[in-house]
Amino acid sequence: MKSTLHLCITMSSCPEYERLAAAVDQILKDLAEKTTLHLELFRSKQHRKFMRLDKELELLVGEKERAIGSLRQHAKEHQCQQPEKAA
Ligand SMILES: [Zn+2]
Repeated sequence: MKSTLHLCITMSSCPEYERLAAAVDQILKDLAEKTTLHLELFRSKQHRKFMRLDKELELLVGEKERAIGSLRQHAKEHQCQQPEKAA
């Protein structure tokens, strides 16, 4: 997924697309880091911290949905995303 996105950034010449794609990139990176921490807290049975991060992750997933939604909407309306290669 990440490499596909990165490819789009490289291929796109639209600054708005690049801005939106960078936001998605950042949120996904954040999610990955926080999920790793979440697992550590779970394994070390730090319940309170675990639950706090659980809430944070929930919000972050919502942010991710919105960021990806904006990116897709922009690409659709602006026709600035290269067609995806068949996997
Ligand atoms: Zn565009």
